[in-house]
Amino acid sequence: MTFENPFYHIKENPVIIAGPCSAESKEQVLQTALEIKKDSRITVFRAGIWKPRTRPGNFEGVGKIGLSWLKEAKQITGLKLAVEVAKPHHVELALANDVDYLWIGARTVVNPFSVQEISEAVKGVKTTIFVKNPMTPDLGLWIGALERFNSVGIHNLAAVHRGFYQYKHDRYRNVPMWEIPIELKRNYPQLPIICDPSHIAGNRTLLLEISQKAMDLAMNGLMIETHINPDVALTDHFQQITPNTLSQLLDTLVYKRTDIQEKNNFLQLLRNEIDELDEQIIELLAKRMLKSNQIGQYKKENQITIFQLNRWKEVLNSRADIAEKKKLSKEFIATLFKLIHKESIRKQSE
Ligand code: PEP
Ligand code: MN
Repeated sequence: MTFENPFYHIKENPVIIAGPCSAESKEQVLQTALEIKKDSRITVFRAGIWKPRTRPGNFEGVGKIGLSWLKEAKQITGLKLAVEVAKPHHVELALANDVDYLWIGARTVVNPFSVQEISEAVKGVKTTIFVKNPMTPDLGLWIGALERFNSVGIHNLAAVHRGFYQYKHDRYRNVPMWEIPIELKRNYPQLPIICDPSHIAGNRTLLLEISQKAMDLAMNGLMIETHINPDVALTDHFQQITPNTLSQLLDTLVYKRTDIQEKNNFLQLLRNEIDELDEQIIELLAKRMLKSNQIGQYKKENQITIFQLNRWKEVLNSRADIAEKKKLSKEFIATLFKLIHKESIRKQSE
């Protein structure tokens, strides 16, 4: 895929996108946009016009009329506009109303038919698409949607990380699974990734922590739901904050440098040490796998099952005990050994 930076003209870095979950009335849109405009770090105004609701009968967005309110907000404030589109018809209306960025929602990205249809609607158009991660933690699906846009000539692309659905909510409304956007960045270093802490958190209290984490991971921007009066918002009211609270959050954030220019600096020394340790870990794993292959051979010759429940329990428990003594998290070591065990079983089954 080839990318162009959709934010080349925005000098504020990271890019901050703010605005209500849903456009509700002309007053709410204009008042929120005017408040947001007071903070020059915020350059893009977002609002949902068509809302994908889990159950029918809830507020489903104001539709087309909301676009005229957004257009007016843009004329007054100069903020760029971002809107969710889920159908070719949405694309047509948004583009006719000067919307700068079209975003594809998490529920749409799971459906390649819909993504294909939308991509055909933007073919040949000079616009920018933000692709949210799909509801399910499937990197291939996320990349697939980006590819569909790329292949119709959309090079101005950004990914939006909004967390992944889980059946039982714990701390988060949508679990962040940071390793997935990191893997996306590893595959496509030129692709900007925006974090959406509002939909990850599902509440106001976690917004700062998630935003800081996104900055620590060198993400390129934040999309945060902002409403003039969050308590009465028609959608996602638990997670929306006022423009003023958003400015305070931005004041508190610590922006980190991503560039490391100095040679042989402290960081480089530590990295050299890590490189060596990693090599040792791999050597040990290779030795362990060799032993496991020998055991596999013995089991085969003596018609013993590959999987031995009691031995496996003993391995898991004893490794967790050792880990604890070394102040390593038990969960981390359990995950690691489950992976090693899975590979041993695969090799013994060959
Ligand atoms: C939204 O941004 O308001 C929204 C519906 O997001 P998502 O598609 O991430 O759920
Ligand atoms: Mn929302």
